[in-house]
Amino acid sequence: MRRHKTTKPMRRCIACRESKPQDELIRFVLNGQDPVVDLNGRAEGRGFYLCRNAECVRTAIKRKAFNRVCKRNLDEKEISRLIGQVPGSCQGGMDVKES
Ligand SMILES: [Zn+2]
Repeated sequence: MRRHKTTKPMRRCIACRESKPQDELIRFVLNGQDPVVDLNGRAEGRGFYLCRNAECVRTAIKRKAFNRVCKRNLDEKEISRLIGQVPGSCQGGMDVKES
């Protein structure tokens, strides 16, 4: 069996478990046990990924996928606040600011 060499790195969504190109996913990094949205995709630390769609956000909440990666309980509010910081996910435009 041959493997195609992909130019884009593939990452797996914690909700649907599908591998997708990294630019189709939201990257989060763990700051201790707190997930932080990594807008530039360059933050250091243990990262995990979630699709940029509301369905996977819902699935992640329902399946407690965040709890698993963060190894603690995150309530829904905490997660939606986190998702709210993602440009172009559920609200706002794709206006990624470099600071
Ligand atoms: Zn997904």
